[in-house]
Amino acid sequence: MYICSECRRIFEEATEVKDFRGYYGETAAYELMYECPCCGSNDYYPTEECAGCGEYFDQDEIALYDGFCEACVRELEGRLEDLVAETFTLKEVRYIKKNNFRYAF
Ligand SMILES: [Zn+2]
Ligand SMILES: [Zn+2]
Repeated sequence: MYICSECRRIFEEATEVKDFRGYYGETAAYELMYECPCCGSNDYYPTEECAGCGEYFDQDEIALYDGFCEACVRELEGRLEDLVAETFTLKEVRYIKKNNFRYAF
């Protein structure tokens, strides 16, 4: 997926357009250009959907967190901390971490 810097629209494939470049002898020469299907801008970049909230983010940003956006990762960490605090005592948490439980966080 791509996002357009101009109109912020998300699209799957850029529109292919033939840009006329003049004549070479008798033949018209075109260069293939790619642009936003919505506004025609060529200022667009790869984007990816966050596995958590479904919003679209810069592909590099999403790659940093394995498919999630930063806000979702923070939220997930918070929820996990709450769950752990509700479920285990501090001593139990220390034990689990130290002993490297198979399903430990
Ligand atoms: Zn656009
Ligand atoms: Zn998210």
